[in-house]
Amino acid sequence: MTRIAFIGLGNMGGGMAANQVKAGHEVLAFDLSDTALERAVSAGCKAAQSAAVAVKDADAVITMLPAGQHVRSVYANEILPNARPGTLLVDCSTIDVESARAVAKDATAQGFRFADAPVSGGAAGAEAGTLAFMVGCVEADFAAIETVIAPMARATIRAGDFGAGQAAKICNNMVLGATMIATCEAFALAEKLGLDAERFFEIASKSSGQSWSLTSYCPWPGPVPAAPSNRDYEGGFATAMMLKDLKLAQEAAAKAGAATPLGAQAEGLYALFDRLGGGAKDFSAILELFRGNAPA
Ligand code: NAD
Repeated sequence: MTRIAFIGLGNMGGGMAANQVKAGHEVLAFDLSDTALERAVSAGCKAAQSAAVAVKDADAVITMLPAGQHVRSVYANEILPNARPGTLLVDCSTIDVESARAVAKDATAQGFRFADAPVSGGAAGAEAGTLAFMVGCVEADFAAIETVIAPMARATIRAGDFGAGQAAKICNNMVLGATMIATCEAFALAEKLGLDAERFFEIASKSSGQSWSLTSYCPWPGPVPAAPSNRDYEGGFATAMMLKDLKLAQEAAAKAGAATPLGAQAEGLYALFDRLGGGAKDFSAILELFRGNAPA
């Protein structure tokens, strides 16, 4: 049994921490939200009074926080001053490459092992322990990192050195944002053309319009029972989070001099949907924009 500190127990972290408990590990959990912490405790985690307390005697620390500023602050103020040197620190949040590299630099300078290990697979994958992890770390640490990640993962791939996991993640999510928008546009057009949505799903899922956005996360309620579209787009992957990732991709593209016009369009459309009030809804709710409806 390993002692794991888990910081950030939201839509993703809650399910991930529960899978560490199921694998037989002792999980000391902390979140600023009492509701999130209570949910983790009911899944078998032990509540810590603070992140600093949670990490004190941990063998590994996993963070699943909203954005770069949260990760930088929790590392600087809670984790690095309180964890034992040598502890394995795995940040699974999606953050900017620069923050990941800055945190890695501080952590390794103080004798810790670190990985940026963002994930793909959504809240359902977090719950089921079937996430894909993309890891940026020193090659020699990868085996230990893979072992810590295993109870939460269907696949763990080393992307490269520090920051490479985040680079892979923002490229992946740029594809996801653009394919979700294309899928939603197609459903809205199918509706206008009088085509039955279930029939369109059946055809496109077996044709060249197939994608993860369609067959694993269908924005139209019905065809994929586990998709947030069947729960009024609650939970899942918030529009505000998708917008954050698309902004990260655009910032990275500008710095690298890469042309990403579809990524830029996707960012603009998610920014609009966010401004119209859709920020807390799952990102597949952007379907409503193309159907001409305001977010509920
Ligand atoms: P969330 O908002 O549901 O959860 C984040 C949690 O972090 C919240 O419970 C919040 O209270 C907590 N938190 C914030 N600051 C904290 C602090 N200083 N100390 C302790 N807890 C703190 O977000 P989420 O959907 O779980 O996403 C988390 C990360 O995973 C994000 O970086 C997101 O981009 C990424 N991600 C999300 C999904 C998804 O489908 N939701 C998929 C892949 C990656």
